[in-house]
Amino acid sequence: MLPSETTLKSAAPTAGAGETALGDEAATILAGGTLVELNPPRMGLADVLLRGSHIAQVGGRMPEGAPRVDVSGCVVSPAFAIAHTHLYMSLTCGMPPPPSPPRTLTDKLEWVWWALDKALDDDLVHVSALVGAAMAAKAGAASIIDHHSSPRAIDGSLDLIASAIDEVGLRAVLCYETSDRDGKGRRDGGLRENRRFLERVRKGETPHRALVGAHAMMTLEDDTLDAMRELADKYAVGMHMHVAEDLTDHLDAERIRKTPLPKRLERLGIAREGSVIAHAVQLDAESASRMTEAGAFFVTNPRSNMAHGVGVCPLTGSNVALGTDGIDNDLIAEARAYYLRHSEAHDGLARESGVRVTAGQELVAQLFGDAQPPRIVAGARADLVVLDYAPLTPMTPSNVVEHLARGWKSAHVRDTIVGGRFVVRDRRLCDIDERDLVLRARAAASRLWERMQGYY
Ligand SMILES: [Zn+2]
Repeated sequence: MLPSETTLKSAAPTAGAGETALGDEAATILAGGTLVELNPPRMGLADVLLRGSHIAQVGGRMPEGAPRVDVSGCVVSPAFAIAHTHLYMSLTCGMPPPPSPPRTLTDKLEWVWWALDKALDDDLVHVSALVGAAMAAKAGAASIIDHHSSPRAIDGSLDLIASAIDEVGLRAVLCYETSDRDGKGRRDGGLRENRRFLERVRKGETPHRALVGAHAMMTLEDDTLDAMRELADKYAVGMHMHVAEDLTDHLDAERIRKTPLPKRLERLGIAREGSVIAHAVQLDAESASRMTEAGAFFVTNPRSNMAHGVGVCPLTGSNVALGTDGIDNDLIAEARAYYLRHSEAHDGLARESGVRVTAGQELVAQLFGDAQPPRIVAGARADLVVLDYAPLTPMTPSNVVEHLARGWKSAHVRDTIVGGRFVVRDRRLCDIDERDLVLRARAAASRLWERMQGYY
C-alpha cells in the first residue's frame, strides 16, 4: 500500500463484518484501485462496489458473483465536473483567424466568438455538443455546466445539446446566453429558450438541469436584467453568466448605463444559491462576498484568461470551481494551468488546484440535488474516473495536489463512469462510434468555418 496519512478504507462506511447482498440492481466491483479524493486529500487502497447509479460499498468483503473490473495499479477518483464551458466552441481548434488580429477581449468577442455563434445552425449546435461532450468524457468528466449561444438557431438549441449529452452518457446543467447584442428579438428568443428548458426540467422531461443564462453585464440592458431576475425567481434557480472577465463590464456600467457594476448586479439579483459566475477577474471584493454569502459559485478559467490576456482571478474558497471555457474540456489540463498560473502570480493559490476541482463536483451535486456529496463513500453517486497512473514518486494525501498538477494527464484516463455506467472504457467511448464522430466533426468544422466568413 502506498504511504498515506488517512485512508478512504478506514474513513468510508463499509460493509463492516459481513458482505453486502448483491440485490436486484446491476452491480460491478472496481477491484484493487488506489482511491483518491482531492479535497480534503485522502487516499487508500480499497475495492468499490457499484450498484445501480450509486456506490454501495467501499472496502470490506465484496459480494460473491458480482462482475469485477480490475483497476489495480490505477487511481480511482470522483469524476471531474466542468463548471463552466461552451460546447458550441468545440469545433474551433485551428479555425482561420479573423481578418485583423484582435487586441482586446471586446475585439475577440466581436471578431471571433460572435462570428462563430452566429454561424451555428441546428446541426452544428448538435455536432459541436457531441464533440465537446465526447472530449469531456474521454478526459474524465461526468458532468458539464454549459453556457450556450447560437443567435441564428435559438429555439430548441438546449434540446439539441441535451440529446448530444445523452448520446455520450454525461449529465449537464444547461442555459442559453441571453443578450441584447443582437436586438430585442433575439434577446426575447434567449429568454424564451431558457424558460422552455427550465419548464422541461420542472416537468421532469429531461434528466438534466437548467439555469437562467446570459452573456455578460456589458451586453444586457436594464429591462433584461429584470426579466432574468423574474425568471430565476419563478423557477427558484440560479443564473449562469460571465461577470467582470476584464474591466469592460465596469466601464460599460459607468459610461453607458450610468450605474456602477455592483448596483447593476444587485438589480439582476445574481447573488443567489445555485448561480454560476464565470471569471470574476475584476470583481470588487464586496460584490464577491455578497455572492458567496448567498450561496453562488465562481468559476475560474485560467487558460481562457491567459488566451484573452485579462489577468488572474484572485478569488479563493470552497465555492470557487474550475472551468475550461470552451477550450477542450480537459479539466486536468486546466488544473495544471491553474497551478502554474498562480505559482507565477505568487498569490499562494497554486496548491488550491484540488480545491477548485472538488468545488466543481460539489456545485454539480448541489444543482442536481444529489443526496451525498461527490466522494467515494457508500451512498454517493457512482461518478468516477479511473486513471492508469503509476506515480514515479511517492503519492500521499499531502502531495497529491502536485500529482494532479504535474503528474496526471487526461491521457491517463482509462475509464469514465457516470451514474454507475461506463461511458468510457479502456479509453474508448462506449456508446459512440469514434471513427464516425471524427468524420462528422471534421465535415461540420469545415462547414462552420466557411459559414463564419459571412459574419466577420
Ligand atoms: Zn465562458
